Amino acid sequence: MQILRRAEEARAFSRSCKREARRVALVPTMGYLHEGHLSLIRVAKSSASSVMVSLFVNPTQFAPGEDLDRYPRDFERDSALCRQEGVDVLFAPEATEIYPDGFSTKVSVQGPLTEGLCGARRPGHFDGVATVVAKLFTICEPDLAVFGQKDAQQAAVVGRMVRDLNLPVEIAVEPIVREADGLAMSSRNVYLSPEERTQAPVLKMALDTAQRLVLAGERDASALLREVKGVLASAPLAKVDYAEIVDTVTMEPVQILGKEALLALAVFFGATRLIDNAILKQAAKQ
Ligand code: AMP
Repeated sequence: MQILRRAEEARAFSRSCKREARRVALVPTMGYLHEGHLSLIRVAKSSASSVMVSLFVNPTQFAPGEDLDRYPRDFERDSALCRQEGVDVLFAPEATEIYPDGFSTKVSVQGPLTEGLCGARRPGHFDGVATVVAKLFTICEPDLAVFGQKDAQQAAVVGRMVRDLNLPVEIAVEPIVREADGLAMSSRNVYLSPEERTQAPVLKMALDTAQRLVLAGERDASALLREVKGVLASAPLAKVDYAEIVDTVTMEPVQILGKEALLALAVFFGATRLIDNAILKQAAKQ
């Protein structure tokens, strides 16, 4: 596995693959890898002959006062995991490589897609995401890029940007990987105190409760959200940032559920903000 720090090197690698008719897949990450990231890498491996993983804690997607400085990092462990998974290139640029002096461009996906949920709570976050993902795509020139459903709104934003800008990248969105007790894997889970960690699976319990009610015939989003908030309130340390039911594509609030809708949660445990979501379906999976 090659570890590349320079954009030019990453592009040269991708172009050399293309010359040999190899399909290139990219998995963008902020590192501190867990099984969720590894599941994306495995999908990339199974659908492309060359796999690039980017590791970049992107400063522009953090608002002042958020956890940029203390975001967990372990480059040695991350690179060992990537090597084990058969990754070809780990692209780990310095911030100055991505945002050199004088950097003045922003990619901004506008409208309802970024106005609600995390877009409302984290001003500027999705501009930072869209800008860095656009840059990673133009640097690595992947045929395929793999994202996680864990960040459902982010995946929707990236999909919209790719269509709007005619970027020649196929986007795959893969299921949420969870701990045995249901907590969605996240690099931020290490912030949780033992007590918070014990209560954190309440997000998954709330998602499951909503899905059960939908299968039992409940279609009213307000009624569902009342139940969801009731479950979340059973964890004394949980402070709800948002709990919303939205359209899976547009991310706009839904009042009465159709065939499917996204239940999206953001919940604070102390200073740690966890997000999770489920696509609520009217019929159980076949
Ligand atoms: P991050 O390093 O948190 O920016 O995440 C990098 C990619 O991994 C994003 O596409 C996330 O949606 C995805 N991801 C994070 N956590 C999970 C998880 N538990 N299951 C599946 N994908 C995940």
